[in-house]
Amino acid sequence: MQLDARLSSAVAPTPVLDPQWIAFNDELAVQLQLPLTQRATPEGLQIFAGNSTPDWAQPHALAYAGHQFANYVPQLGDGRAVLLTEVVDKNGQRYDIQLKGSGRTPYSRGGDGRSPLGPVLREYLVSEAMHHLNVPTTRALAAVASGEMVKRESIEPGAILTRVAKSHLRVGTAQYVLALQERKLLKAFADYVIQRHYPDCATAEQPYLALLTQVRDKQAELVAQWMSLGFIHGVMNTDNMTLSGETIDYGPCAFMEAYDPQKVFSSIDRRGRYMYQNQPPIGMWNIARFAETLLPLLELPEQQAIEHASDIVHGFEQVYQQHYHARMSAKLGLAPEHPQAEQLLEDYLQLMHHHQVDFTLGFRYLSDADDQRIGALFQQSPTWQKWYQQWQTAHEDLNAAKQHMAQVNPIYIPRNHLVQEVITAATNEGDLTPFNTLHRVLKNPFTEHEEYARYSKPAVAEQQITRTFC
Ligand code: AMP
Ligand code: MG
Ligand code: MG
Repeated sequence: MQLDARLSSAVAPTPVLDPQWIAFNDELAVQLQLPLTQRATPEGLQIFAGNSTPDWAQPHALAYAGHQFANYVPQLGDGRAVLLTEVVDKNGQRYDIQLKGSGRTPYSRGGDGRSPLGPVLREYLVSEAMHHLNVPTTRALAAVASGEMVKRESIEPGAILTRVAKSHLRVGTAQYVLALQERKLLKAFADYVIQRHYPDCATAEQPYLALLTQVRDKQAELVAQWMSLGFIHGVMNTDNMTLSGETIDYGPCAFMEAYDPQKVFSSIDRRGRYMYQNQPPIGMWNIARFAETLLPLLELPEQQAIEHASDIVHGFEQVYQQHYHARMSAKLGLAPEHPQAEQLLEDYLQLMHHHQVDFTLGFRYLSDADDQRIGALFQQSPTWQKWYQQWQTAHEDLNAAKQHMAQVNPIYIPRNHLVQEVITAATNEGDLTPFNTLHRVLKNPFTEHEEYARYSKPAVAEQQITRTFC
């Protein structure tokens, strides 16, 4: 089954001057069963730079629309990316392989189709970190320096990222199809999504309501995972929300350090639409936009169709709450049905907010054998001590709980200042050592190593990064 030709444009990547390897993900290449010519070889370098297009590739850019900060934009699309091909991995799972930063496409509008090195390194590190944190995400297969400069606020070296995703279909893709106003095309698109991602919907009584429900469930769980890790996506536009439920488009994203429900990093999010605590309602808002695209396919009287779809959309909140509650309880070492789980969590978040405690360490240090590190985060304050007492007595087997906690509360996350350090060294000095070290640390986020101590620490005042850019 193929996507309709109107949903993409054939376009080859634009060759670059002097490609050089930055990184190649061997482990992922093995999973994808890529032949040697598509690995860290001279042939691979040419492919992942966009300099040679092998005969197995059918490079094309996908069209999509989307709500950007709530404003509908009828034509976005891959303006700096081309999909090379699809592959099937060891487990029979199908993946897209996409070059990002590979030159102009028919959807580039005013853009240059390129990407500076910084955002490529950021997406490589953060998407791989998310994968190792067990969060559904697109992955990074390769990063190649282009040997060309790109102009942003300053002149920076350019790079190309190779991204792997279950698909690049977004809520915005469905919106683009809806706008073409052809029911047959819309049905073919929805059937394609079902076949590719949710095959059991095909036999449901109402396949498109089943599809809506499954996409909703995937997104609700994904956002709950982000929240449980303090991850702020930064640009939850409908074109940055996949139908597969994978995190996509790591732009001005960030992990928060001091816990603050209203935290915003993204320099383009001026009103805080995508602040930490808004992520669940925005997830639901985006699902409502997806629901709108499916309405014409529902074989029900109009009013009934709207009611059904609307019920499913509103169900987002409950599904989200369930996942959020389960994950946050687990972070405290408690079963979700524990009678004190909710109160302990609420009180703890309040304490963390009040003491501006690092979200990651505030959970991780709870699993320490003693209370040295965790107590220090709260300056051993009396309210903290009271909470800590309550939390301890809530457990029947505290040691067993701590072991579970250490498996869900990471010690290492891609902290903003560490990512920035990597970008600065690579951009200013061509030094990839910080990149390689941080990448290695983030592969094992749940196991603490003494020699990596500096990678677990929040930024000190002069390292702090308050704004992130795409
Ligand atoms: P994003 O901010 O990555 O979600 O991108 C929003 C839209 O702008 C997408 O259609 C991108 O393809 C497009 N875009 C972003 N940067 C560039 C660029 N340098 N050249 C062309 N298109 C771009
Ligand atoms: Mg076409
Ligand atoms: Mg995007």
